[in-house]
Parts: sequence; structure tokens; C-alpha cells
Amino acid sequence: MVKLDDMKSKVRDLVKSEQYIDQEVSATNIQRLQRFAVIFALIHVAVIVILWPYSVGATSTEEVWRNSIIILHSIMLVFSFLYGIASYYLEAKQAMETRIAYIIPKLVSFCYLLFGAVVCLCDQLVTGGISPFIIANVGVAVALLIKPIYAVINYTIAMIFLYHALPLVQQNQELLVSAQVNSLTAAGLGFGVSITLWRTHIRMIKQKEEIKRQKQELEEKNIALELLAAEDCLTGLLNRGQFIRQASKEIADMQRQGTAACIILIDLDYFKSINDNYGHPAGDKILQSIARIMRHCLRKTDLIARFGGEEFIVMYQGTLQEGLVAAEKVRLAIQNHCFEFGSKRIAVTISAGVASVLPQGSEMFRDSYVSADKALYCAKSNGRNRVEMHDGDGTSDAKMKNVSGGFSWQ
Ligand code: GH3
Ligand code: MG
Ligand code: MG
Repeated sequence: MVKLDDMKSKVRDLVKSEQYIDQEVSATNIQRLQRFAVIFALIHVAVIVILWPYSVGATSTEEVWRNSIIILHSIMLVFSFLYGIASYYLEAKQAMETRIAYIIPKLVSFCYLLFGAVVCLCDQLVTGGISPFIIANVGVAVALLIKPIYAVINYTIAMIFLYHALPLVQQNQELLVSAQVNSLTAAGLGFGVSITLWRTHIRMIKQKEEIKRQKQELEEKNIALELLAAEDCLTGLLNRGQFIRQASKEIADMQRQGTAACIILIDLDYFKSINDNYGHPAGDKILQSIARIMRHCLRKTDLIARFGGEEFIVMYQGTLQEGLVAAEKVRLAIQNHCFEFGSKRIAVTISAGVASVLPQGSEMFRDSYVSADKALYCAKSNGRNRVEMHDGDGTSDAKMKNVSGGFSWQ
């Protein structure tokens, strides 16, 4: 049963193919036709030039043979010009997926098979061989990719034509039978080569397509992984690593542009007891709500991250004073927010430390972070639910300031 299905799919492959395969085959054939048009035009010219002087002393049969061969090659010379120009035109117009682009290679293959057969018939005047037909059969199979269903039609018609036309020109019975048998072999050989090359090429196209699909899938997965690696899975904010990477880059840009920035470090007050009293799921929900509130209070351009357990960090684009206003806005919003878990209402407050990003120094982010952490420590020790700033100049004896002017403190 499996074998039967396998055979069915193989036969289907020989008759039908997917659209992307047809398009790829058409493009390959059109490009090959451009090259073959030039090569065959040269061959036709060479044959005409070679045969032209051979009329002196020739018998009438030889004369007929020579003239017919010259005429046939002249016709094919014109034909090679035509399909050559057509294939260049189709590529230039990017029309290699049109109906005409699909038809031309099949037509060219059929015409060359017929040409081989007719030359072979003419040759019977001087020889019993069918070399032109063999060359045409193998040549067409190698030169063009023809779907097996059309290939079998082309090779069969050409072979039947030659088989039935041979008795008209070959009177010698032995030579006739030999030529007829050989024409059958030539067609079989041509079709065999054609189908083998078709299958090899189709396999190659499918592999190319599979590699393209896998590459695309990999790129999509990489983007997703990058996002995952950049995001804190609980709050959807940036995670610590990504924040440091982006903040360092932005600080460098700001330094170049001479704009101000500051770091706001936020820590939830007594979060351990919230967890202890209401459970960790309630704590998680609070962390998610805090992230939402921070996003709401701050601008899209400010980098916000969950820096650790219940610690958040912001890189605020603005002066220290502006950073203080922003931190205070967040503090008030959280203090006034009604955190609900089931039927319980939970009061949540934060402490924050703000420090400006100093315009010099290679470790600008680290220095600012250390300063903001000192300010945060100060906010905690001064009673929590407050904002403190670090107003130092980056030296170790930086002094702490309680920010009360303009803000109402609890
Ligand atoms: P303080 O005001 O001094 O900051 O007190 P605190 O209780 O907030 O500080 P502490 O560092 O002692 O506790 C932090 C707590 O945060 C401990 C830990 O259980 C909790 N925490 C850290 N990460 C998470 C988390 O992802 N989910 C929950 N629910 N709790 C977390
Ligand atoms: Mg903490
Ligand atoms: Mg805390």
C-alpha cells in the first residue's frame, strides 16, 4: 500500500509540478535558450559554409542531399535567431513566468527533434545511419528541461514520424530496418536522459526551496528568541541584560548629542510581607500592575526594565530635576492605585533613587546606577514611600539630598 502510494506520487511528479517549480524551470530554460541560440546559430552557419562549395563534381543525389541539408540548416538558423531574441526579450521584460515562456522551450525541443528526423531522412540519400536523430534526441534532453509528460509526447511523435517516413527514402531493406530500430533506441535514450535530468533538477529546486524555508524559519525563531532574551517574562518590560545593553548605547548617543539623562531606580516597599500576607501570586500580579503603571506614567522613549525581583529601573531622557518629577509621578500613581487580589485590597508603595547620567567616564551607566542605588538606600532609610536623588559629581563623597521642595512627602 505504501509502495503503491509512493509510486503514485512519483508518477504525479512526472505529470504535474508545483507552481514554484514551473517558474524556476521556465527561468532556467529561457536562460539556456539564450546560450543555445548562439551556439546553434554558429553550428548552422558552420554546416552551411562547409557544404556550400561541395557542388563541383557531385552526383545529382549528392546535390539533392547537399541542397536539402543547406536549406534545413538555413531554416534552423532563422529559427535560432527567433527563439534567441524571444528568450532575451522575455528575460528583459521579466516575463519568464508567462504562458509563452512556458511554451517556447517545448516548441524548440520539438522542432529540434523534428529537424534531427528530417536531416536523418535526407541523409538516407547518402548513408543508412541515423546519427542526426540520435544527436538531436540526446542534445534536446541535455539542453532543455521538459516536463516528462511533454517530453514523452515530443519524442514519440518525432520517432513515429521518422519510423514511417524512412521507407519513403530508404530502399535498402536491411538499412531500413536498422535505421528504424535505431530511431526507436534513439528516442528511448533521449527520453531516458531527459527524465533523469528533469528529476535531478527538480530535486535540486526542492532542496533549494527547503533550505530557503528553513532559513526563513530560523530567522523568525531568532527574532522570537531575541525578544524572549530581551524581555522579562512576568512584566513584559525589558530584562536586566537588555536594559544595560540599550542604556549603554543610548547614553553614548546622548553624550555625542550633548543631551541629559538620568537613572531612576525603584524598589517596592515591604514587598516580602506582601508576599507573606497575600501569597506570591498576589505579589506577581502587583509586579505586573506596577509595570503597567510605569509604562503609563513614563514616555515611550524612556527605557523601563525589571532589574531584579521587585526592583525596576528607568533611563529617563531629561535633566535630574525632570527625572525627579517623573519618579514622583510614578510614586504617587502607585500609592493611589487600588491593587486588588480577589476580594482583598493591597496597599503598595515604592521608594525611588534618582541620579543623573554624568557626561564623562567610560563606565557611565555603572556610575549612574551606583549613585541611584545610594539615593534609593537613602529613601529606604528615610522612611520609604519617597524619592531621593543623588546630586554628586561622580566622586565617592557625593552627598545625598532629600527632595522635598515642590513634592508632598508622606
Ligand atoms: P524593602 O522595603 O526594604 O525593600 O523590603 P522588601 O520586603 O521589599 O525587601 P526584600 O529584599 O527583603 O524582599 C524582596 C522580596 O521580593 C523577596 C521576594 O520574595 C520578593 N520577590 C522577588 N521577586 C519576586 C517575584 O518575581 N514574585 C514575587 N511574588 N515576589 C518576588
Ligand atoms: Mg529589593
Ligand atoms: Mg523592596
